[in-house]
Amino acid sequence: MTETDLVIIGAGPAGMAAARQAADAGLSVVLLDEQPGPGGQIYRDITRASPTRRALLGKEYDKGTSLAEGLQHPDITHISGAVVWQIEGDAQVAYTANGVGALVTGKRLLIATGALERPMPVPGWTLPGVMTAGAAQILLKQSGLVVENAVLAGAGPLLYLVAAQMCRAGTPPLALVETQAASDRLSALRHGAGALRGWRYLLKGLGLLRELRRAGVKRYTGADDIAIEGSTHAEALRFSVKGRTHRLPCDTVLLHHGVVPNTQVARGLGVPHRWHAGQGAFCPERNDWGGTPVDGVFIAGDGAGIGGAEAAANAGRLSALEIARQLATLTLAERDAAAKPLRRRLRRDLAARPFLDRAYPPYAGALSPADDTIVCRCEEVTAGDIRGMARLGCRGPSQAKAFGRQGMGPCQGRYCGLTVTGLLAAETGQSPDQTGYYRIRPPFKPVTLQELADIAPDQLTRGD
Ligand SMILES: Cc1cc2nc3c(=O)[nH]c(=O)nc-3n(C[C@H](O)[C@H](O)[C@H](O)COP(=O)(O)OP(=O)(O)OC[C@H]3O[C@@H](n4cnc5c(N)ncnc54)[C@H](O)[C@@H]3O)c2cc1C
Repeated sequence: MTETDLVIIGAGPAGMAAARQAADAGLSVVLLDEQPGPGGQIYRDITRASPTRRALLGKEYDKGTSLAEGLQHPDITHISGAVVWQIEGDAQVAYTANGVGALVTGKRLLIATGALERPMPVPGWTLPGVMTAGAAQILLKQSGLVVENAVLAGAGPLLYLVAAQMCRAGTPPLALVETQAASDRLSALRHGAGALRGWRYLLKGLGLLRELRRAGVKRYTGADDIAIEGSTHAEALRFSVKGRTHRLPCDTVLLHHGVVPNTQVARGLGVPHRWHAGQGAFCPERNDWGGTPVDGVFIAGDGAGIGGAEAAANAGRLSALEIARQLATLTLAERDAAAKPLRRRLRRDLAARPFLDRAYPPYAGALSPADDTIVCRCEEVTAGDIRGMARLGCRGPSQAKAFGRQGMGPCQGRYCGLTVTGLLAAETGQSPDQTGYYRIRPPFKPVTLQELADIAPDQLTRGD
């Protein structure tokens, strides 16, 4: 078994920045990520992207280059293609790379597993030809593939970015169907002061909207009653605006209504989570350095609450500084001096967040889907099934799991967890905190018996 000072899960901005900061402070680091290269979601495949692809993805994407280059340090071991599926006490991390299981133990563990797109169950969302906007972006970033004849639907800044990237690739979306309404923008204005402090984000958003206007992309806002039509695959997007029904024929529908923290690993370790009403998601309990109530476990980046790439990187650096202090390679004074400018930048980067959260709320129709809409894709459980479980007395997702198997498929609840919590909370009259979430148990990701069997015997200790 490999032993190191710090194990980091996730080579996105948070994990990459933390790895370099920790190595510069004298720690040995093992950085694990399931992707074939460093970058995380925003900088996916940054080390292999061609100049053409970089131009399509924009200047923001290029910023990932320096973070990825920072991993070239003798004390950083970056293992790509490493899927983490179990963690035991003392930060003993089990992962599979290239089909072979392995173990690594760290004196400290940093979880930097980022965000997931919020599930958007609407009628027809399981038809072939429907995917998330993020999935379409992954096709572009990782494989240079573009989708054609597509309509984008939902809410949030990522929709604008993906639409602009499609325009640059020469396959503009047929339309952008947005669910936020003018009233959302008005109520976001009470967070206007913060938005002005985070003016860079607003400028970026306005620039994207200008690009879409120039490309002639039609925008609808305040859309409701969203449904995807089609018998064997997506054929059209139907929706209404102010009572008028629209139908847009298309081959592909890209859904997106925000991103939420990926909490699977942290939950698996027993880190307590609380409902964040502004973000409409659960966030882990942490202190100012990313330390959690679980001994030796830190969380940084979007996995701790959505803040964007720059905030993720600085949060990762702050965690690394505190870990170095705990492991006595930095003094308290050195830690605090290095942390000061990072905290200033972090505050600036987070300032626009409440404005964005309020201006682009998740689509209400997908938070409370119609009874016949599937919410758990793995086990084909509908919203009506979940409501029925609540009427039978189920108070929370873990109890309901036993009735319908939702959350027990290959995604382990990542696609349905928040929807199930929301449905049960609405039906029982409890708050999301009272309702809770699935109890997450390893394996966090599917693992084969062969991969388990291939863990070399010399890596195992008695009792493993
Ligand atoms: C699909 C998607 C696309 C996005 N695209 C953009 C964009 O283009 N521009 C933008 O500004 N923001 C984008 N975002 C938001 C963006 O993710 C964040 O702001 C930023 O990347 C957060 O950085 P992070 O380091 O916290 O996490 P991430 O960048 O998400 O990195 C987390 C990493 O953890 C790894 N990981 C997770 N679980 C495991 C596991 N069990 N085993 C091994 N590895 C694991 C993942 O492979 C990933 O590489 C996107 C979000 C999503 C969900």
